[in-house]
Amino acid sequence: QKITIAIDGFSSTGKSTVAKQLAKHLGYIYVDTGAMYRAVTLFTMQNGFIDKEHFNINALVEKLRNITISFKFNKDLGFAEVYLNGVNVEKEIRTLEVSSFVSKVAAIPEVRYQLVKQQQQMGKDKGVVMDGRDIGTVVFPYAELKLFMIASAEKRATRRFNELIERGDNVKYEDVLRNVQERDYIDSNREDSPLRKAEDAIEIDNSDLSLEEQFNKVLHLVEK
Ligand code: C5P
Repeated sequence: QKITIAIDGFSSTGKSTVAKQLAKHLGYIYVDTGAMYRAVTLFTMQNGFIDKEHFNINALVEKLRNITISFKFNKDLGFAEVYLNGVNVEKEIRTLEVSSFVSKVAAIPEVRYQLVKQQQQMGKDKGVVMDGRDIGTVVFPYAELKLFMIASAEKRATRRFNELIERGDNVKYEDVLRNVQERDYIDSNREDSPLRKAEDAIEIDNSDLSLEEQFNKVLHLVEK
């Protein structure tokens, strides 16, 4: 009997790591909804609708119909990479620049409406692990298992910083920490679907858990 697993939490809490592990173990599909918001943000940047000084929301909303987001499984990586209008953008969407705009783009109701609809479609047959901010509250309020991941902002910034450095990005820890805190603020103060823990979600604080400890803990919950 396949189920739906919703994993929510603040940025860089390790949602995608657990989600990928679970999907692999259970033979489920993994959907990274943050990647979808990031792809729309990349589109917004590529079209010159957003920069540090201005954000042309109307122009973006008008062009929303021209955005197609899809996922294609990469056997070598073991997960599905995200495509924007047929182009693989998995690497490009992870830059600090995209991170600095994504919460503003994700706050636009029309953007959320379109992506939530697509996410519900992708998960309609169950057997899906989806991670994001509003999966247990908005996308799949009836998910059989809901997890809410937490960890301190400093721990999360350190993880994100190490990831970016490993990729060869030239970033400062302070900037990464500031970005994590800014996104926390915007993501949790959004009006339509603020980041909040669903009442029936199980909270997992992984500040001091190893990957293996975390996975065992979560697997135990799936098997219950
Ligand atoms: O998960 P990730 O950190 O990649 O998500 C990037 C951003 O996308 C978040 O900071 C948030 O603004 C937005 N997001 C969202 N709803 C989701 C997933 C991500 O608003 N379900």
